[in-house]
Amino acid sequence: MLVAKLNDQFINAFDACQGKNYCCPACGEHLVLKQGQSKIAHFAHQVNSGCVLREGESYEHLLGKQQIFEWARKKGWQAELEVYIPQLEQRADVLLRIGGQRIVIEFQCSPLSLTALQKRTFGYQSIGIKCYWFLGSPYKRKLNQRQTQKFVQIVNRQYTIIFWDIKAKIFRLVKLAIKEKPLSLKGVTRDYRILHRLSLLQEINPCVKKFTGGLPVICHQKIWGIQVTNHPEIYWRCLVVKRLNEIPLFTSFSLNSWLYLLKEVGLTEWVKFPCLPSSRIINDYLKVFTKQLLKSGIIMMDGQTIILIRHPSYHRSLMNQYQEIQRLIQ
Ligand SMILES: [Zn+2]
Repeated sequence: MLVAKLNDQFINAFDACQGKNYCCPACGEHLVLKQGQSKIAHFAHQVNSGCVLREGESYEHLLGKQQIFEWARKKGWQAELEVYIPQLEQRADVLLRIGGQRIVIEFQCSPLSLTALQKRTFGYQSIGIKCYWFLGSPYKRKLNQRQTQKFVQIVNRQYTIIFWDIKAKIFRLVKLAIKEKPLSLKGVTRDYRILHRLSLLQEINPCVKKFTGGLPVICHQKIWGIQVTNHPEIYWRCLVVKRLNEIPLFTSFSLNSWLYLLKEVGLTEWVKFPCLPSSRIINDYLKVFTKQLLKSGIIMMDGQTIILIRHPSYHRSLMNQYQEIQRLIQ
């Protein structure tokens, strides 16, 4: 840790010198000041400490926190480094006060479970603090879908992953969008491969096998960006098509009841996004999907009302489907 207490004052390890009685702001235990040419000055608990803040931190984490704190101060914001919040038993890496709003920046360099991430984020929210996650270099190399889902946040109204670069001392934003993916034969082949694999999982849904015929093209019109279902997208689309085929033509829906229908279809498990307002991203995804249905003439919209005007049709054969896809790609 970078900040300790000395005679009821907070002191940064950079300004500290040996031989004084530094204490932990959380547990009050004596802390050891660690300094050296090869490491960043910091405080550490005694080896056998039971404090919630006792875990060691990496060089990058210590340095990054200090840099983010200095960056925020240069911006003219009121910033505090390592603020212990007793009611949450959590320590915020950097706490900012901007125009009456309290904002926490967490600099994450090590793996963090979804449960721990949720606990921290919801904890801050519960006492009116906004929280942003900045990611360190270990994440840069391997940000997979699961990590994206964990750390995607909204910055300037856009889905964003935030990185802090300790070499350049700046943050970098990676923007993500939910948009239509162009239809491709390669994608279609991949879909059938996935469905073939899923047909082994008949306990999930005995209907899966039935799907692997000449599927309506809407099943293959995927979306780029962030994965929102825990199942493969093709599986969810197959379930929606099956459901739409059971609904009488000219049934109408309000926008909310329509979104509800799409969300509840089959056994869909939606991904949890701990750093986003609840279900916002799923609604965005469903709206893009709805546009695809509109374009393909399956539904029509009358103001805020959605009307089912055509059932998605299965093709008589794969060849038949192939021809339609070819026509759409050109
Ligand atoms: Zn402690």
